[in-house]
Amino acid sequence: MTEKWICIACKFTLGFIEDKKVIRIKRKDLYVETEGGKVTEICPRCGKPNTLTDEKYIEKGGEKYGL
Ligand SMILES: [Zn+2]
Repeated sequence: MTEKWICIACKFTLGFIEDKKVIRIKRKDLYVETEGGKVTEICPRCGKPNTLTDEKYIEKGGEKYGL
């Protein structure tokens, strides 16, 4: 299942989330794919930082160590 990752401020589409674990960010000159952990993207339209955090990552204490 693919969901849209949208900016919390202006609803711009930042990327896509597949099966609640794989995040794909695609621009004409950029392609990023990340799985697990924490990802922050600055909205290209309004400049607002948007963060997605994996619940399992929090459980392992990743937040605490700032990885
Ligand atoms: Zn935005």
